Amino acid sequence: MSNPANPKQAVSSGRFESWGRYPSYAANLIPLHWQQEYLPATEGLANGALAVGMGRSYGDSCLLKDGNLVVTTGMNRLIAFDPETGLLTAEAGMTLAQILDFAVPRGFFLPVTPGTKYVTLGGAIANDIHGKNHHVAGTFGCHITQLELVRSDGSRRICSPTENPDWFAATIGGLGLTGFISWATLRLRPIVSRKIDYEGIQFHGIDEFLDLTTQSQNIEYTVSWVDCTSTGRNFCRGVFMQGDHSRQPGELTPSPEPKLVFPFEAPGFALNALSVSLFNSVFFHKQLHQRVVALQDYEPFFYPLDKVLHWNRMYGKRGLLQFQYAIPWENAREGTVAILREVAASGLASFLAVLKAFGDVPSPGLMSFPRPGITLALDFPIKQDKTFPLVERLADMTREFGGRLYPAKDAAMTAAQFQAFYPQWQQLARYKDPLLTSSFWERVTGDPLFR
Ligand SMILES: Cc1cc2nc3c(=O)[nH]c(=O)nc-3n(C[C@H](O)[C@H](O)[C@H](O)COP(=O)(O)OP(=O)(O)OC[C@H]3O[C@@H](n4cnc5c(N)ncnc54)[C@H](O)[C@@H]3O)c2cc1C
Repeated sequence: MSNPANPKQAVSSGRFESWGRYPSYAANLIPLHWQQEYLPATEGLANGALAVGMGRSYGDSCLLKDGNLVVTTGMNRLIAFDPETGLLTAEAGMTLAQILDFAVPRGFFLPVTPGTKYVTLGGAIANDIHGKNHHVAGTFGCHITQLELVRSDGSRRICSPTENPDWFAATIGGLGLTGFISWATLRLRPIVSRKIDYEGIQFHGIDEFLDLTTQSQNIEYTVSWVDCTSTGRNFCRGVFMQGDHSRQPGELTPSPEPKLVFPFEAPGFALNALSVSLFNSVFFHKQLHQRVVALQDYEPFFYPLDKVLHWNRMYGKRGLLQFQYAIPWENAREGTVAILREVAASGLASFLAVLKAFGDVPSPGLMSFPRPGITLALDFPIKQDKTFPLVERLADMTREFGGRLYPAKDAAMTAAQFQAFYPQWQQLARYKDPLLTSSFWERVTGDPLFR
């Protein structure tokens, strides 16, 4: 553990990449273990700084080329928990996995969770993440009751929907730019079992997906895998997955550690159009019946990918681009069909394709990504000369359909695209800490503060 009096002692330098493995930049790493270290660690730094959690964002929103990355994962203590209200206060570097290990045996669960539990509380707030229950629970930020923001001038602010509400709104989904989040309070939801009452339903085409979405409004969790390689009568087929926390009292034990590790860097040719369309066909038919009902543990339901550590190595050294849009209801059907057609025609799509309807619970963040309509998330292996032009085209289509892209999953949108998607970015700029910046922010605002 570093010396709290001088955390800079522990600084190391190297090349760093996020979950998508693209881009990779040189930076200094400053590990933190105590909330009081934020200021001594960052005082007098040249080239700016950025807090990072687990680096589970895909693109460059958690990177700072030639700058200083302040790693918060050592600052992961639980501060308080009230079993009457479910209010949990923890340091910002605590991961959702650590929160679950504490909360599940006590009969509580996260109010909102992404598709991996290996993200920090601070990272979940800074991207105002969403989960399978967005249509009923809104974003993660909807369940944060307060947080502390530490600015590089030494000031500390408690922010909540009623105290410094403008700072609260700027920080939820604020891309880590408004200050360092030192701790936050999150409202957990009660559960009586680890199990989920699960139902998987095959669908054939966008209209069946939309019908299922309408029918499942009262089900807490819904998400779909969609086959984005097929055309013709298999176009937009998929599996609609829905579930509720079981109401039958059952086991409330913590989860075992994942044992599988993706063992090597896959060669570039491992993921090609043939292997992906084969996988898609197998996945679709794995669900042998049109409708499957099961009592499922929450781990495979929420975190199927966490079972294999480092699965991103499957994309090889070049890495992958994630692409996630949200298109409002008025254009959601047309936009989704057009984009899926473009993707199928490109032959570049991967099997990780997730389709979901966002609901209308308002997000508390100024820059929050979700909006009522359809969201689609896709992985593309990076192939020279092909992937970037495709993703740029898809981003333009998203813009034409009135949608926007998710910064947490982005390494490629242009400044013009970002500023059209988020005209409120200039408002965020007014709350930005002068020391803090990211490679994403510099790319999309043309604001290379420290270069
Ligand atoms: C397999 C997988 C599935 C995913 N599924 C979903 C999903 O379903 N829904 C969804 O919304 N997202 C999803 N994501 C994205 C992920 O949830 C977000 O990118 C999340 O923000 C990552 O958290 P992190 O701790 O890794 O933060 P990092 O990626 O390290 O950082 C993210 C941002 O948080 C800021 N930050 C981190 N800590 C602090 C702090 N203490 N103070 C201030 N700022 C801070 C950073 O500066 C950066 O801007 C998924 C990612 C993966 C790899």
